[in-house]
Amino acid sequence: MRVLVFGREGKVGAVLMRSLAAAGHDVRGVEVGEPVDLKGIEAAVDFTTPAAVLGNALAALAAGVPCVIGTTGLGDDDLVQLDRQARDLKTQCFVAANFALGAVLMMRFAAEAARSFPQAEIIELHADTKLDTPSGTAKATAAGMGGDVPIHSVRLPGLVAHQEVILGGLGETLTIRHDTTSREAFVPGVLLALDRVRGLPHGLTFSLDKLL
Ligand code: NAP
Repeated sequence: MRVLVFGREGKVGAVLMRSLAAAGHDVRGVEVGEPVDLKGIEAAVDFTTPAAVLGNALAALAAGVPCVIGTTGLGDDDLVQLDRQARDLKTQCFVAANFALGAVLMMRFAAEAARSFPQAEIIELHADTKLDTPSGTAKATAAGMGGDVPIHSVRLPGLVAHQEVILGGLGETLTIRHDTTSREAFVPGVLLALDRVRGLPHGLTFSLDKLL
């Protein structure tokens, strides 16, 4: 598939440029400030910044190009706008707060455990270069657990993406933890999304869970 990666030189973007090509895709990349040529592009992937992602995705969808978005920090209004644009243009927009399989399972297990424990808190830990707080994964985890879950954010050099969900009950705690130790962890999820995006219903589809 001919794929355009927004954020070619970013920490995730650079990994995707190599890995999508190794998987047989014809990959082009765009960095901030460069002209965007969408002619012949079959899908766009965005791992950029909260400020850039909406403009990139709306431009791709306007050209009828389905989008796979990993950038976090999109608000509810942004998601509504992406859904409307994709529906109007009869194309697809897939957004996932986390493309790592283990993180998706962590969110599932946390939602299940929240039904049995009265209280829980989330600690999410990321590199100090991450622009949004709390992380999209933490917000999605809290939403899946019923919403009212305090989130603590740690930003330090040396971290990639980590999260602990600690549930407390009478005389016991349960901790569910996921660690992303390398950005290669996001590659299988992005490849799966690229494989499936054109077959999704028109409009927005949110979460890797929907593809598993
Ligand atoms: P990063 O290293 O800062 O990379 C972002 C890249 O996007 C930079 O190279 C940046 O260029 C570029 N960029 C900014 N505006 C652009 C534009 N308009 N067009 C094209 N490129 C543009 O960040 P990262 O760690 O790779 O993460 C990127 C995003 O993905 C973040 O929102 C992060 O939270 C998210 N993320 C999501 C997942 C997931 O599984 N969903 C996993 C990891 C990360 P400059 O440096 O020149 O500004």
